[in-house]
Amino acid sequence: MSESLERELDRAAKMIERAEYVIAFTGAGISAESGVPTFRGKGGLWEKYKPEEIATPEAFERDPRRVWEWYKWRMELIAKTKPNPGHIALARMEEAGIVKAIITQNVDGLHQRAGSKNVLELHGSIWRVRCVNPSCGYRATVREPPKEIPPRCPRCGSLLRPDVVWFGEPLPSRVWEQAVIEAGNADLVIVVGTSGVVMPAAMIPLLVKQHGGVIIEVNVEPSNITVSADVFLKGKAGVVLPKLAEKLGLKI
Ligand code: NAD
Ligand code: ZN
Repeated sequence: MSESLERELDRAAKMIERAEYVIAFTGAGISAESGVPTFRGKGGLWEKYKPEEIATPEAFERDPRRVWEWYKWRMELIAKTKPNPGHIALARMEEAGIVKAIITQNVDGLHQRAGSKNVLELHGSIWRVRCVNPSCGYRATVREPPKEIPPRCPRCGSLLRPDVVWFGEPLPSRVWEQAVIEAGNADLVIVVGTSGVVMPAAMIPLLVKQHGGVIIEVNVEPSNITVSADVFLKGKAGVVLPKLAEKLGLKI
């Protein structure tokens, strides 16, 4: 470990110890070491697929089968993965009463599988489906991808869709309101593995900063958040977060 990272880790740990209400804000980068591809950056999903072709309501209207094929592929991929030491370190910090909430942009469910309890999923979950018919309201949790694609609603026969937020769609309002409340309570946010370009999600760390809070960022490279970060811990989430947890006296 470089001397400067060691020093920055010490600074970060002191800030966390002094803070009263710590939250975490995570993106695709925290799941990269579990084998879930990120959207942007090297090897990102968008090198192969264009978002406007897959993750939009228009794409689903045009070709639900194609959209479902992509989600089925991602569900199969995610089902084979495990939480990595980054997810586990955050779960331990929550267990120890240090981290109060995890606000995530991820849809993979890996935070919960690592043992995190207070997880706010801003962009929904790949492990939920819902009926496209607004007057039906059917929703379900699933453990595996649907066998038949596109799946149909057992209640009304309309199409089922993944319960995730697509480009151009609003965030689930109750989850968003809760996230804004958490950001309002927080005097420190640990931002992990996000490019910080997807709005309004990326507002969360900035809201903490706006009322005088501190941003500690973990990323392999600078992001949109970095200019606002008080401490930048350069490295992989699965390496840096366990070291940070250790500095806080926790065993991973
Ligand atoms: P992003 O793909 O835009 O950015 C990923 C970020 O993670 C980059 O800044 C990259 O430098 C960083 N990174 C890569 N590997 C890392 C590592 N090992 N440790 C630390 N940082 C690392 O992701 P985003 O900001 O979350 O925005 C993308 C959107 O895509 C989100 O809205 C989310 O819903 C969705 N998404 C989710 C998943 C998932 O659930 N796992 C995966 C891909 C995309
Ligand atoms: Zn229905």
